Amino acid sequence: MECYPLRLCPAFKDNLWGGQKLKTEYHKKTEMTPLAESWELSCHRSGCSTIENGPCAGMTLPDYLARFPAAAGSRCAAFAAFPVLFKLIDAKDKLSVQVHPSDDYALREEGQYGKTEMWVVLEAEPGAELIYGFKAPITKEELRRRIEEGALLEVVNRVPVHPGDVFFIEAGTLHAIGAGIVIAEIQQSSDLTYRVYDYDRRDAQGNPRELHIEKALAVTDLGPAHPKAFDRTPHREGDAEVSRLGSCGYFTTDRIRLAGRCARSVDGGSFEGLFCASGSAALRAGGERMTLEKGQTVFLPAGLGEYLLEGEAECLSIRV
Ligand SMILES: [Zn+2]
Repeated sequence: MECYPLRLCPAFKDNLWGGQKLKTEYHKKTEMTPLAESWELSCHRSGCSTIENGPCAGMTLPDYLARFPAAAGSRCAAFAAFPVLFKLIDAKDKLSVQVHPSDDYALREEGQYGKTEMWVVLEAEPGAELIYGFKAPITKEELRRRIEEGALLEVVNRVPVHPGDVFFIEAGTLHAIGAGIVIAEIQQSSDLTYRVYDYDRRDAQGNPRELHIEKALAVTDLGPAHPKAFDRTPHREGDAEVSRLGSCGYFTTDRIRLAGRCARSVDGGSFEGLFCASGSAALRAGGERMTLEKGQTVFLPAGLGEYLLEGEAECLSIRV
């Protein structure tokens, strides 16, 4: 009764740097303006998803998984809490320069998990760029001085971005999303962010946002960025090309480029989150049939078994 594809309704965030694209391009239904983030598949206390369809409609995802823990999958059982958070980010303006701690530091100092994340660029305006680590190794003293003097941006590594680009941001990597970018972010379920530089911006009340310089100095990797190398060569599954975009101990993300039909399955090891980034596809599992439109995320419970995708679409698949 509880094992069917769950259509998820996200939690929304209205940070000042957000825009309107999640509403106009990704069909998010909310009055919130600006709309910065939609937390699509989330069990985090700062914003969790709600089930929209079927017998469990109206239940939050964490309530559902508390009642039916096998639906998360056996590999999730190794974690004290549901390990993954999947969100969309519309950065009309740039985000602060920031860093996230590793599990070691975060569990010791903050009593929650750290944050490794990966980004799949969905849209990027011409000239859009992001910050990813430093250009060259830097000492902690120089980093502190540059933060204090507002001269940090001279030493950061700027990377131009294009739709389809993938970035794996390990905990400890200094980073910032630039303006004019829409990103799908797959991350550990944590909201620990140490802000290093905020372009001297003020909020609606005229106050600068808090910086976390000492904590950031304690966790920032001082070497140049060293992107993890992944083999992203696609393989065929029916009429789909599937490539592994990134994988770590917390999550694995695949891209599915579908042009026709493709049979897949969900075993007992992990749930599968399916996000439709463009196009649309029909999804059939057991007796259920639903349409997956651009912007929609579904949660396929672990142990669901075989399902069928049919249509012209690009999807992201997220598992543990
Ligand atoms: Zn981040």
